Amino acid sequence: MPETMLQAPSPAALTSLTEDEILFRDNIRQFAEEKIRPLVKEMDEKGVFEKDLIHQFFQLGIMGIEIPEQYGGAGGKFFEAILAVEELSRVDASAGVIVDVQNTLVNNALLRWTKDEQKKRYLPRMVADTCGAYALSEASSGSDAFALQTKAELKGGDYVINGRKLWITNGKEAGVFILFATLDPGAGYKGITAFIVEKEFLGFTVGKKEDKLGIRASSTCELILEDCCVPKANVLGEVGKGYRIAIETLNEGRIGIGAQMVGVARGAWEYAAKYAQERKQFGKPIGDFQGIQFQIAQMATDVEAARLMVYNAARMKDAGIPFVKEAAMAKLFSSQVAERVTSLAIEIYGGYGFTRDYPVEKYWRDSKIGKIYEGTSNMQLATIAKLVMGGK
Ligand SMILES: Cc1cc2nc3c(=O)[nH]c(=O)nc-3n(C[C@H](O)[C@H](O)[C@H](O)COP(=O)(O)OP(=O)(O)OC[C@H]3O[C@@H](n4cnc5c(N)ncnc54)[C@H](O)[C@@H]3O)c2cc1C
Repeated sequence: MPETMLQAPSPAALTSLTEDEILFRDNIRQFAEEKIRPLVKEMDEKGVFEKDLIHQFFQLGIMGIEIPEQYGGAGGKFFEAILAVEELSRVDASAGVIVDVQNTLVNNALLRWTKDEQKKRYLPRMVADTCGAYALSEASSGSDAFALQTKAELKGGDYVINGRKLWITNGKEAGVFILFATLDPGAGYKGITAFIVEKEFLGFTVGKKEDKLGIRASSTCELILEDCCVPKANVLGEVGKGYRIAIETLNEGRIGIGAQMVGVARGAWEYAAKYAQERKQFGKPIGDFQGIQFQIAQMATDVEAARLMVYNAARMKDAGIPFVKEAAMAKLFSSQVAERVTSLAIEIYGGYGFTRDYPVEKYWRDSKIGKIYEGTSNMQLATIAKLVMGGK
């Protein structure tokens, strides 16, 4: 055969994993089953995440997946973070979001935008024992994030920050916050600067913790900054370029939320498929009825489609291919799938599914946040529309 006719091997299936990825995933799956599953109901009821589990996340190496080995991290890929978030969320979406925010938002921002000196100060801590949080939203700026009012002023060698942040995931557990403030509210997005703020900084307080519908064990808190002193050396990236940090980290973070929603949908689907084999009506398992079989099949198809989108977006990110549209689509679709699949799971459980004695109602409550944080579904649609319609 002439050389020019030799064919390259076909690309692998979109869901194919390397041996290392399979090991990594199986390890987390086992950890989630053995260590998290027994605590899920109680953590949800109390609205508190078990502190020791977070300690175990650090020991397992999943709080610094992409952090290079020279700083003590695993030196892994973004895709591994996605696998971790999916596997954890299959058991508990609160566990999923703690690891998601740490890796896809906080570490991601620190890895990309810190100077060497800041890397040395912060990356080893993020791997070892410090939880991170990402503080952009405020009471009057959510979708319109760059209308934020928290103000930073340079006074001597420090920035002095005043304002309040709302809805901050990991607020209770975090020691380090990537916090966005404006140096000049009149300058719009161009005034926004990102800071690395530590919990111990003078003038920084964690305020009220929200009592939520879903992901109840994940803390969502207000942050209060009253003349909070932040050293100049803690500016993240360039002054006035915080908007770029916010946009770019959230683009990646969205793939993580997609993974969380795939995990939630899968967890509920697995319960429903099993229950359908066990529950008998009219003298046989309800799973023998075609009506139920079709629902289970539709749910499985939805989960598969969402996972393909999430994995593809994550692989594109790791390959350095533009992925903004795919990330927005993956988050939009996965959160729709999660809501649909978890809702059907309740129906398959019948009346029992509507009670807190069975696990599926929690999955449904947990699914709802997928359409809200890191950009609501309308905001994802706006991004997708802009990209597919060429700005028209
Ligand atoms: C549990 C939880 C955890 C969170 N964690 C974090 C965190 O860690 N860090 C952080 O910074 N933030 C966090 N958030 C905030 C979250 O990102 C915002 O809630 C979200 O961006 C939506 O903002 P909003 O709540 O102000 O809603 P709004 O922006 O007021 O939106 C209300 C509705 O209006 C729609 N809407 C708004 N503008 C438009 C438009 N132009 N076109 C069409 N529709 C529009 C929205 O889609 C939505 O349906 C969290 C929120 C929750 C609930």
